[in-house]
Amino acid sequence: MSKPQKLTQLEENEVKIGLEIHIQLTALKTKLFCGCSSDYRGKEPNSLLCPVCLGLPGSLPVTNKRAIDLAIMVALALNSNISRRTLFFRKNYFYVDMPKNFQISQYDKAGGVPLSTGGWVDFESNASIKRVGIIRLQIEEDPARLAYHGTIDSSPYTLVDYNRAGIALLEIVTEPDIDSADEARLFLQKLRSIIEHLGVSNGDLQGSMRCDANISLKGGKRVEIKNISSFREVKRALQYEIIRQKQLIRRGSTVKQETRHWDEDRRITISLRTKETESDYRYFPEPDLVPIEISKTWIEKIQSKMPELPDARKTRLVKEFDIPEYDAGVLTSSKALADFFEECCKLYPDAKKISNWMMTDLARNLKELGIEISESKIKPKYLSDMLKLIDKGEISGKIAKKVLSQIVGTGDPPQKIIIKENLTKISDKTRIQKIIDKVFEEFPKAVQDTKTDPNAINYLVGQVMSKTRGKADPEITNKLIRKKLAKYKTI
Ligand code: ZN
Ligand code: MN
Repeated sequence: MSKPQKLTQLEENEVKIGLEIHIQLTALKTKLFCGCSSDYRGKEPNSLLCPVCLGLPGSLPVTNKRAIDLAIMVALALNSNISRRTLFFRKNYFYVDMPKNFQISQYDKAGGVPLSTGGWVDFESNASIKRVGIIRLQIEEDPARLAYHGTIDSSPYTLVDYNRAGIALLEIVTEPDIDSADEARLFLQKLRSIIEHLGVSNGDLQGSMRCDANISLKGGKRVEIKNISSFREVKRALQYEIIRQKQLIRRGSTVKQETRHWDEDRRITISLRTKETESDYRYFPEPDLVPIEISKTWIEKIQSKMPELPDARKTRLVKEFDIPEYDAGVLTSSKALADFFEECCKLYPDAKKISNWMMTDLARNLKELGIEISESKIKPKYLSDMLKLIDKGEISGKIAKKVLSQIVGTGDPPQKIIIKENLTKISDKTRIQKIIDKVFEEFPKAVQDTKTDPNAINYLVGQVMSKTRGKADPEITNKLIRKKLAKYKTI
C-alpha cells in the first residue's frame, strides 16, 4: 500500500487530462461509406440502413470524398500535419453497437497512417494563452446508438438503433496538457467554436460532439471516462473524477487503470471494465478500401476556401466595431454568439452597448435557463429594438432588464412585452406630479428631513418609483421633487 498523501499535497498542477473527442460531420448528407441518410435524429429507429452499414456479407464500403474534404479542413484549422497517404484500419471488437464486429477506423501504428498528426489549439485560460497539443486526427464510422432502460449498470435490456452506425466521425486526440476541469471546458469551447466556424458540424445537435477523457493524478494510474455525451458534461465528469481519485490516494488506496462510465443522471462515474489494451483490438488494414492519396493541390484547394476562424474574427471585431479585445474574445467563444452580435450591429449603431448587454444581462438570462443563445428564442432584432426603446426614453435601463429576461423566456418582441406588462416609462409631468404630491402627504417626516439631510430626497424618489413600479422617469421625478422642496423652503 502506498503512503497516504494529504489532499493539500495534490494541487491542480498534478492533474493530467487528455481528451479524445468525437465529432460527427453533420454537414454531410450521407454516411461515411454508404449512401444512407445521415439525418437520423428523430427518425424511426433502424430505418436508415443498407447492406453496407449493416455489415452484411458481400457488401463493399466506398469512402465519402466530402468527408475527407471536411477532415482536411479541420486538420488545417488545428495546425495539424496532413498525411499525403492515409488508410483505413479495422478495429475489431465484438459488441452489439458494431454490426460488422469491427469499426472502420484509422490507426497510428503497425503501418497505419491517420489523416493528420500533431497540431495545437490555443485558447485563453486565466488571462493568458494556453496551448494544448494535438496528437492525431482520424476519420472513422460512428457505432450504433444504444439506449438503456434506466441506468447502464441496472438496465435489464439494451435497445440498439443502427441508424447512427456508419455516420462519419472525426476523432481528435489531445496530448495530456490539460490541468483542470475548468481548462478542459475552455479548450472544448474553443474547439467547438473552430468546428462551427468551419461549418463541418453543428454542436447543438444531441450527441454530435462527444468526449472521452483520460485523467491521472500524481501517484495514481490513468483512468478513462467514456460516454460523456456533451461538452457541457465534461467539466462535471472531470470534477467528480478528480475528487474521487484524490480521496482514494489520500486514504492510501490505489487508483487502478480502468474505464469508467459517466452517468449523467446520477452525476457519478461508475466502473465499466478494467481497460483493454490496444492489442485486444487486433488492428489491421481494411482490405475493402483503397488508401487515400492527398495531393498538395487537394490541400491547397481546401486551404483557399477556408472560412474565417475564431481568432481572425476576434481581431476583425476589435477593428471593425471598436470593441475591447476582451469583449471580442467572449463573443467569438461561440459562433452563434458572434453571429448574433454582428447581426445586432447591422441594426443598432452602438456596438459596445450591444456587447455590454450580451455579456451581462443576456448571458445571465441564458445561464439561468441553462441554454445557449442558439437554443433561445431571442432574435438580434429584439435586442436592438430594445436598445432603441431605451434611447427613445420609452423604457428605463432598469425596466429593460425585465424586458430582456422576458424576451429570452417567451420569444416575444420587446414592444409586445412592454404593452402586455404595461412597462412604458412615465414621462408625463402632470402624472408624476400627482404621485409626488401623494408621497409628500404620506411621508411628511421625510420631507422635513430634507432640510437637514440632503440624502433624504432619495427616499422620496424611491417612494415615487415604488408607486410606479419603477416606471417613472427618474430624471423628471428628481427635478419635480426638488422644485416642490424649494417651494417648501421659502414658506
Ligand atoms: Zn447504409
Ligand atoms: Mn474513436
